[in-house]
Amino acid sequence: MSVRVLVVEDEENLLTLLRKYLEREGFEVHETLDGREALEVARRVDPDVVVLDWMLPGLDGMEVLRELRRFSEAYVIMLTARADEVDRIVGLSTGADDYLVKPFSPGELVARVRAMLRRPRGGASSARDRVEEDAPLSFGELTVDPARREVRLLGEEVSLTALEFELLAALASRPGFVFSRSRLLERVWGENYFGSDHVVDVHVANLRKKLKDDPSDPRYVQTVRGVGYRFRRP
Ligand code: CA
Repeated sequence: MSVRVLVVEDEENLLTLLRKYLEREGFEVHETLDGREALEVARRVDPDVVVLDWMLPGLDGMEVLRELRRFSEAYVIMLTARADEVDRIVGLSTGADDYLVKPFSPGELVARVRAMLRRPRGGASSARDRVEEDAPLSFGELTVDPARREVRLLGEEVSLTALEFELLAALASRPGFVFSRSRLLERVWGENYFGSDHVVDVHVANLRKKLKDDPSDPRYVQTVRGVGYRFRRP
């Protein structure tokens, strides 16, 4: 069965270009120029991946994503015209899985989509079907259960994006071990990820927020200056 990709982009030339590239890669491509219509199409075709422009007529990308998350577990790549918007998008915890700053090459988009599809997804059947032998990890108030892809804080389930979960699971698998940003990128984003290391920092920031971790004195995810991150030994 082919992978369904929904492209939401109001620049028609770019939309056409992306559709051609994605179709050439064998994806089933659906497209729309409008945010509101994007939700209708998403309900109908149940896409695996949504490529979503940030600035759209109707509903903007963030609003589309918020609504989309109520019924879809699709991977979402946000497109933005400005690099400095990436921090804002991530800071708003929209639940996007990746970001691309315009202009980008369609080949890069394809590489990102392929990298995403290789990652297991929480709740997706492909993730459920995988044989996982990892036992749940317990750190005081925090439990990380790789088999169920579940994180609990004081017994309450913490809702993480796929990327946040992968990050936490990687770090928590080896408490005390220092993971460099590039190692985390390779492990969590896949070896074909071409973006900047900075994306690790923004996702760690969101992860800490959800774990109620104080960045100046984190209980779980510690910064190792100039290198990366480590999970604090219990
Ligand atoms: Ca636009």
